[in-house]
Amino acid sequence: MKAIIDEPQHSQALIDPYGRRIDYLRLSVTDKCNLRCFYCLPKGFKDFETPSNWLSFAEIERVVRAFGELGVSRVRLTGGEPLVRKDLARLVSQISALPGIHDLSLSTNATLLEQQAQDLYRAGIRRINVSLDTLDKDQFAEITGGGKLQQVLNGLQKARAVGFSPIKVNMVVMKDTQLDDYRRVLDYCMQNDFTLRFIETMPMGSAGRDASAQYLNLDTVRQRLNEEYDLVPGIMTGGGPARYYRINNTDFEIGFITPISQHFCETCNRVRLSVDGTLYLCLGQDDKLELRPLLRAGISDDDLQQEIIQAIAKKPQKHEFNQKPGQVVRLMALTGG
Ligand code: SAM
Repeated sequence: MKAIIDEPQHSQALIDPYGRRIDYLRLSVTDKCNLRCFYCLPKGFKDFETPSNWLSFAEIERVVRAFGELGVSRVRLTGGEPLVRKDLARLVSQISALPGIHDLSLSTNATLLEQQAQDLYRAGIRRINVSLDTLDKDQFAEITGGGKLQQVLNGLQKARAVGFSPIKVNMVVMKDTQLDDYRRVLDYCMQNDFTLRFIETMPMGSAGRDASAQYLNLDTVRQRLNEEYDLVPGIMTGGGPARYYRINNTDFEIGFITPISQHFCETCNRVRLSVDGTLYLCLGQDDKLELRPLLRAGISDDDLQQEIIQAIAKKPQKHEFNQKPGQVVRLMALTGG
């Protein structure tokens, strides 16, 4: 099947064989992370990509420019932990300056955000997502393999002071999570005007699969919260997969991201570029295009775009986390979460 190149008024559009418009690139700038969340990276994991295989900033810029010319307007920097990549703000400035890229956002664990928030904002990031699974410092250390909760809270406060908006807090939900844990994170988000989103654990790589024992259907969470908070369907749309509920008589909305219990593949609008220049067409499948060898062999801009178009034509219809939970051996951090 072929990807269709549409030509609306201003830019081209990448449309996959299932009619989905691909306008969103998740860009992993490193596979390294300074935390070891048990569902993401195995303890003691060291098998990270060698630096000579990382795309340089110039190579990343070239690929993002090609996507921008093909109608991709939204880019999210991720990893690994993107803030451990040296000079990240410089890359942000380069990408912000590209024609067609109108929305540049960041996913971070926020441990290094206090130091970098100002520079990242100046460079062009406006929206950030921060991972935070608990407000209990011991539990936080346990989940993250020794992380310091206070660094994250400092990062979040700095981000708010600098002016990032919206700030979304992503909480991976586990079977052991207690109602009180939700309540604490929820109250904290309400007080600080952060949006809260819950995420179901996915069987990505060995760590994700081992964590499957901790999987909890978010419907259960919604029902538990509903007993206390009176949730009504919300109106927020983020261009992403979250379904929102509002706490009645407030403006506070909570997002539920349910890749396992209710997948949202029919509205998938994204592809992922890993630090070594591999373009993954689906989080839960292995279909990919290796761009680094092409870039380093001197591919022309036109041919680069053609390669991308042909790859989009092979974007899988959906993930199969439920049917084949052992299928994806890539760890989340190596794919670009
Ligand atoms: N380090 C950044 C962060 O913490 O947001 C960006 C990368 S991290 C891999 C992106 C998101 O993936 C985080 O919210 C993390 O909780 C989530 N994640 C990692 N492994 C996961 C899994 N097995 N299932 C569900 N979410 C996962």
